[in-house]
Amino acid sequence: MLEALLLMLALGSVSGVLLGIASKVFYVWEDPRIALVTDCLAGANCGGCGYTGCGACAAAIVAGQADVGACIVAGAGGAAKVAAVLGLEAGAAEPLTSQNTCTGGFRAPEKFSYMGVNDCRAAYLLYAGAKDCAVGCLGFGSCVKACLFGALEIGPEGFPVVDAEKCVGCGACEKACPKGIMQVTKPSDRILHMNLVDDRLAPCRQTCPAEINIPKYIHHIKNKEYDQAYLTIMERNPLPLSTGRVCPHPCEDACRRALADDPVSINQLKRFCSDWVFDNAAQVKIPVAPDTGYKVAIVGGGPSGLTAAYFLRRLGHQVKIFEWLPEFGGMIYYGIPEYRLPKAILGKDVKRILDLGGIDVKTGVKFGVDFDLESLVGGGFDAVLMTIGAMNHASARIPDEDKVKGVIPATTYLRRQGLGDPMPIGKKVGVIGGGNVAMDCLRSSIRLGAEKVYCLYRRTIKEMPANQVEIEACKHEGIEFVTLCTPTKFLTDDEGNLTGIEYLKNELGEPDASGRRSPVAVKGSETVIEIDNFILAIGQTTDSAFADEEGTAVSRLETKWGAIMNDPDTHQTAIPYVFTSGDCAGPPGLLVAAIGAGRRAARGIHKYLMGEDMAMPENRLRVDPRRMSGHIPGTMFKSIEGIEKKGRIEQPELEPGTYERQHTYAEVDLTVTEEEALKEANRCMHCCLTCYDKDA
Ligand code: SF4
Ligand code: SF4
Repeated sequence: MLEALLLMLALGSVSGVLLGIASKVFYVWEDPRIALVTDCLAGANCGGCGYTGCGACAAAIVAGQADVGACIVAGAGGAAKVAAVLGLEAGAAEPLTSQNTCTGGFRAPEKFSYMGVNDCRAAYLLYAGAKDCAVGCLGFGSCVKACLFGALEIGPEGFPVVDAEKCVGCGACEKACPKGIMQVTKPSDRILHMNLVDDRLAPCRQTCPAEINIPKYIHHIKNKEYDQAYLTIMERNPLPLSTGRVCPHPCEDACRRALADDPVSINQLKRFCSDWVFDNAAQVKIPVAPDTGYKVAIVGGGPSGLTAAYFLRRLGHQVKIFEWLPEFGGMIYYGIPEYRLPKAILGKDVKRILDLGGIDVKTGVKFGVDFDLESLVGGGFDAVLMTIGAMNHASARIPDEDKVKGVIPATTYLRRQGLGDPMPIGKKVGVIGGGNVAMDCLRSSIRLGAEKVYCLYRRTIKEMPANQVEIEACKHEGIEFVTLCTPTKFLTDDEGNLTGIEYLKNELGEPDASGRRSPVAVKGSETVIEIDNFILAIGQTTDSAFADEEGTAVSRLETKWGAIMNDPDTHQTAIPYVFTSGDCAGPPGLLVAAIGAGRRAARGIHKYLMGEDMAMPENRLRVDPRRMSGHIPGTMFKSIEGIEKKGRIEQPELEPGTYERQHTYAEVDLTVTEEEALKEANRCMHCCLTCYDKDA
């Protein structure tokens, strides 16, 4: 018995020693932070993070292979705890949420009656489902059944409704939907997404150059969710207060409601909800992706530069804007007069962008004078976006236009007003041009004290590129249109001061490349009008003379008529780390087009920095709003039926002819009331590709 006990004791001792040695030999060190991070996760072992369980997820987070917010079930609170364990910035996580991209439901017509199993995947097996719309929701709720968090239900209109509070972004619904309608995305994914031919897009949304989800924000307005409407706009356009005032709204030209009565007053609704957010100091949280460690320099703080700065920051990059003038906004600060866009309103948009944090600014510095590409690269910037605008004026080709006293380029005329130092003018002013800049010069001249103001234009009013509302406003303010004229000669006094302009009358000939009929001067039709000032408003060009300096990095940029050439999809120039957007990359265009270009440039830079494929998806939707072409086939109808006629709301404005309207810089167009906004929002038919709400 004793022997057996001694044997057991000896065996135990030997085993203990061997195990001790083995534990030293085969010891695998585990980072103690993995256990701490595991404690911060939800403990559900659901695999929604993409790893085999919570332990594997924690190990990936500690190894830097997964985001601090990888555990979608633990949510933002869990991410903050993980960030604290790892000593990282709290909040460095973007929320993943599910979105339903089809609003057809019961209203979407069916091509046959399906009597099979009550399941989308089963229904899909039969001719891709019974819905007439090839990409529409089938409505049997496979996504609802797949959601383990009770965040989805088929709503009263027959399509899935997401409860954002309950959705953890696990992606189960996305996997269950046979039509790709449920999409789980984070804000960065949505910022980088461009309109595709396969998307479910209303005609207005297809046409907007900034690709704003118009039906969605109008739907939020209908539900009095004004902050949500504003946030929807901010996923595409960070200048909503400004565009709400001055955008010529090409989207309205494509509005399906116009086939029944009038287009929805989309831009007035944008202005209303954006004003509401600021007037009510609503707390809106704009998500920013985790820091990438990259730094981007933006040269020029105009609309495109501000937009790119905003989206690059939201994508996690550090940004610095270098601006030549004292204020941000470029042509919309220094070109658009106060009565159309008050500086304080633009300032609120700019402040919201800069309040994101991570955007540094420097004003009063000029590219090519105070800094250059070499100094930016030396300063640690990984990419440069040039958005220097087009501030030089185009010539009217009238002899001595640079010498005659009283002839003023529009850019100088408007910039001096923007700087609070308007140029002195006489009682009679002529402005040559038919675009919005010309309209701004005309209306400003009235406010600066001119008694007689002429608009000289070589075609007819019908061909003018200016917004119709601006032309109408000019008429209301007493401006005289002298159309079909070609100014040929300045008349001056002995001291070279302008006294008048001689012009030839035109006739319209054959259409030119723009599709408009060309003006042809009529010999012997010389006519004179007396004027004290003549303002050149026939176009602007970019001052890119710095690119001519040989031996500098910037001389590798390609320029054409002043514009700095780029790939229009990626915005990359001949120098891989240099990008351009806005007016300096092509002929000056609409503010909303500059905003769209700013987001595209931000996408190009982001892809370049992250080493991702920069090319646009092949099925990208490319709509030309000027020609109203390029829309998804079958979505631009000729007629619609069954809609009760309800005219659209009027644009409220200061009373024409009043002192305040004619002689002050008070804002002329006003914001609609909440009652009017709701009335207008209810006219929107919440269209999609092919279906729309006939009861709107
Ligand atoms: S048109 Fe749009 S909303 Fe209508 S069924 Fe198709 S995808 Fe759905
Ligand atoms: S009715 Fe509404 S959704 Fe339809 S095109 Fe017009 S604004 Fe867009």
